[in-house]
Amino acid sequence: MATILDGKAHADRMLETVRLGVEARKAQGLRAPGLAVVLVGDDPASQVYVRNKSAACARVGITSLEHRLSLDTPQANLDGLIDRLNADPDIDGILVQLPLPQGLDAKRALHRISPAKDVDGFHPMNQGLLLEGLPGLRPCTPSACMSLLAHHGVALKGLRAVVLGRSEIVGKPMALMLLEQHATVTIAHSRTRDLPAVCREADLLVAAVGRPGLVEGSWIKPGAVVVDVGINRVEDPGLAARIFACEPKKLETFQSKGAALCGDVRFGEALQVASAVTPVPGGVGPLTIAGLLANTLQAANG
Ligand code: NAD
Repeated sequence: MATILDGKAHADRMLETVRLGVEARKAQGLRAPGLAVVLVGDDPASQVYVRNKSAACARVGITSLEHRLSLDTPQANLDGLIDRLNADPDIDGILVQLPLPQGLDAKRALHRISPAKDVDGFHPMNQGLLLEGLPGLRPCTPSACMSLLAHHGVALKGLRAVVLGRSEIVGKPMALMLLEQHATVTIAHSRTRDLPAVCREADLLVAAVGRPGLVEGSWIKPGAVVVDVGINRVEDPGLAARIFACEPKKLETFQSKGAALCGDVRFGEALQVASAVTPVPGGVGPLTIAGLLANTLQAANG
């Protein structure tokens, strides 16, 4: 039976480190780090994320300021707000909550944020620094996954790693961070031939695809470490029956509520094959906010 890598517990450790860093700044007479969160429109999931980010900031002593813009905000107004935040000496980090409403160009907004305040690590300057292996602000989800792996003593040097998914926010930066730690990295994606065979080569499998239960137990090499980044809501009873076949309690919860969250990996099956696996929820999810706050402290400390 695999060890469950508890993301909530590791997020608590990361947040405590940030809290101590904020205290250390205050002890030197410096102000608390300031994070500006920009939310455009009224997407319910984004509102929950923004609320969670504000609560986490309060917990560690970071000042957070929310800027809410209406659904019909023109790009020029968003540009103007980003410019003002770039120039504000009390703001160390700027986060534009994605997705943006239709009609707004997310790349243009992200590229407008000053690289020094780009706490999401999505600016091409920071992505370029990562590519070169130089210090910079790095994307929160993969850097928090790296922190989790380091905490659990996963030796990456020479390890065969497969990253499933090639997004700019998770898959690609995760692959670069693993490469930096001397893993042998394969990036697999929707066009990869014989995905199960590629996954079976992995000593470390990172799934960041957004397809519920895509990775079956038979895709996992015995003894592998599995990091499941995917967060998916399942509502189809047939799919739930397949994904949760080895998790009777989860299936019961699904049947009573009519929906359940799951990762890209079939957790119940992975438990029987892997040496360690992150759950969903309670795995990578809580780590991402902790990574964001660590970046905000880093940006404040320059
Ligand atoms: P994305 O949609 O930008 O990218 C998905 C990637 O998966 C693409 O590169 C695509 O090629 C690949 N893919 C799609 N279908 C595939 C298939 N059938 N087989 C193989 N590869 C396939 O997604 P993203 O933003 O990287 O997010 C991925 C998942 O991670 C989502 O479920 C998202 O909700 C979750 N996520 C979680 C956190 C967190 O905090 N835990 C953070 C970011 C993203």
